[in-house]
Amino acid sequence: MSLLIVGSVAFDAIETPFGKTDKIIGGAASYISLAASYFTQKSKLVAVVGEDFPAAFINHLQAKGVDTEGLQIKKGEKSFFWSGKYHTDMNSRDTLITELNVLADFDPIIPDSYQDCEYLMLGNLTPAIQQLVINRLTKRPKLIVMDTMNFWMEIALDDLKNTLKMVDVLTINDEEARQLSGEYSLVKAAAKIREMGPKYLIIKKGENGALLFHGKEVFFAPALPLEEVFDPTGAGDTFAGGFIGYLAKTGDISFENMKNAIIFGSAMASFCVEKFGTERIVELQEEELQHRIAAFRNLVKFNLASV
Ligand code: AMP
Repeated sequence: MSLLIVGSVAFDAIETPFGKTDKIIGGAASYISLAASYFTQKSKLVAVVGEDFPAAFINHLQAKGVDTEGLQIKKGEKSFFWSGKYHTDMNSRDTLITELNVLADFDPIIPDSYQDCEYLMLGNLTPAIQQLVINRLTKRPKLIVMDTMNFWMEIALDDLKNTLKMVDVLTINDEEARQLSGEYSLVKAAAKIREMGPKYLIIKKGENGALLFHGKEVFFAPALPLEEVFDPTGAGDTFAGGFIGYLAKTGDISFENMKNAIIFGSAMASFCVEKFGTERIVELQEEELQHRIAAFRNLVKFNLASV
């Protein structure tokens, strides 16, 4: 089933305790599209880049089955640029630079051929633009998943709250959940955030896994313990791409199937952090994904007949 992906396609410059990059390919929608392409060949991208953006990456997305008709290339303008630096523990980072460039006046035009999409993934982007995308769809998709970040909570909280009312699933990290709700307990935070709109809430906890809240139910998926985390940039987006890609592939949006989707999202994210930027997920082989799913299964499998 078809999947519409909206978000930043960008240049990033990243500094981790393991090294530093110049401008490399980044952006929420880049990671989401790459991750989702392992599950569905029916994804369609809406994003904007400047004339400085490499055609080779766009060609790569197309080769992976991503429709790029909705990717605008602005002549004479520069692509969105983000730069971040990770602390020694890799769990926290500082944003050093956010240059909106083409994102500043992005008008998300939805091609007619995208109108039938059943799944919508709103990657990290100005909340007002995320909302505009929903309003421009002639038919509401079967499932709308949204990601956001602290940056928008600080500069566009009202817009963010309005957009939240329109989505089914929100994915955010633990720090952001606490900031948005004003609650330290993630259980209390989840209850407050779900009152803001989304029926399902996924709280990502980095190396401590992810929680899915719905109704009175909670599901926990661990993160795979890795010997080395090289660069966590894009892990959240890769997770989201795997999550929605799996749902779009299976066409089943039940809570039970969302549990499986979270495992696939976590498996994709575990690859993302092994190299800088998109490097690892670009080269990922289907076989490697299957092995990792097996590793997840073993990680949480135990035989306990009764207590
Ligand atoms: P994550 O590590 O999952 O939070 O995602 C990092 C990606 O988000 C980077 O590739 C950035 O280009 C992108 N990003 C960072 N800040 C923003 C922002 N304000 N709006 C849109 N995308 C952003």
